[in-house]
Amino acid sequence: MAKLNANYDKLAQGYLFPEIGRRAKAFAAAHPDKKILRMGIGDTTEALPPTVVKYMHERVELLAHRETYTGYGDTSLGEDALREAVAADYARRGAAVNADEVFISDGAKPDTGNIQGIFSDDAIVAVQDPAYPVYVDTNVVAGRGGAYNAERQAYERLVYMPCNEHNGFFPALPQGKVDVIYLCSPNNPTGSVATKAQLEQFIGYARANRAVILFDAAYRDYIRDSSLPRSIFELEGARQCAIEFYSLSKGAGFTGVRLGWTVIPKTLTLEDGESGKAHRLWTRRQNTYFNGASNVVQSGALGALSETGRRECQVIIDYYMQNAALIRATLTDLGIKCFGGDNAPYVWLKTPNGMKSWDFFDKLLTEANVVGTPGSGFGPSGEGYFRLSSFGHRENIEAALASIKQNLRL
Ligand code: PLP
Repeated sequence: MAKLNANYDKLAQGYLFPEIGRRAKAFAAAHPDKKILRMGIGDTTEALPPTVVKYMHERVELLAHRETYTGYGDTSLGEDALREAVAADYARRGAAVNADEVFISDGAKPDTGNIQGIFSDDAIVAVQDPAYPVYVDTNVVAGRGGAYNAERQAYERLVYMPCNEHNGFFPALPQGKVDVIYLCSPNNPTGSVATKAQLEQFIGYARANRAVILFDAAYRDYIRDSSLPRSIFELEGARQCAIEFYSLSKGAGFTGVRLGWTVIPKTLTLEDGESGKAHRLWTRRQNTYFNGASNVVQSGALGALSETGRRECQVIIDYYMQNAALIRATLTDLGIKCFGGDNAPYVWLKTPNGMKSWDFFDKLLTEANVVGTPGSGFGPSGEGYFRLSSFGHRENIEAALASIKQNLRL
């Protein structure tokens, strides 16, 4: 008899976004006259940068002819030109990354989800609380979560590192010894960004404990304050203890196109003391499970990293950041306390009158017809908070904010 993986039964609830979709759909069905205004899921809305489109068109043209057609890449790890362009991109930021430490993939969600597979089954995993749900759910499915405690809304074996108003939404170091630490900066959902000093502390902890930091930099392009680190590899010692993930989803509008990368330094040294082993395992993992990112998309990524491409991406990022500023200004005017949104595309607000996150979700939906994301869906410390996304056409963001101003009863 084929038995299924029982760890799936431990997942606390459906993935957050399907649940939001279900509630929004039910409201729409019950109120067909109302237009739902979406500020929930962090999906990009503006057109691809022209240079990206040009590079992809050129690659498609090559594929259209027998003489220039190519199939599988030489390896699953990415085309050399792109890996080198990525390394050069890090070098511009003062971070030392070699091209052969870059693993091109089809996005940061698969990589942040799959990476846990190279660590031992009994690894103790620490997550920021609240956190992007993928870190928790993939470890639960792999059996590292233990039982779900409904009262605490937490898994027994995971170490939750609370991020709240008191610590500026960046956690204190774990109290005991943990093995794998997920950090996301700029943070989804709180919109906070770790400072160099805060990352240095974690690097010190990780090196002392032979732990690994899994650093998700999917939103790095939204950082405007030049004193804030965009890569953990800008910091001394990170090459010994960190893996970094990045995605062109939010930086270049690749949410549907799909491309990201993971950097595993060959100098990374874990519990067994053998440097380079994590790099070897991930190489093996990718060559076994993955057949490389789309060649057309890899060309598009080269376009995004080119000088003109980077300039064009910045224009789109600025557009979303202006949305974020509008969201913050409007909500603050209404007396709602807001965080984030200055170096990140997410505004994290404190629900008015101490409401529960899902109650505020229903209130915002029914009164203002606006869909946002309940903070509690990201972990127990997200309760009482709510995330609004600045991705969206300006006119839709303005319409949503006007509706909030007019219809939300505070
Ligand atoms: N990491 C974080 C923190 C995210 O918020 C997201 C997407 O919303 C991702 C990774 C996923 O990126 P990708 O589209 O490359 O899979």
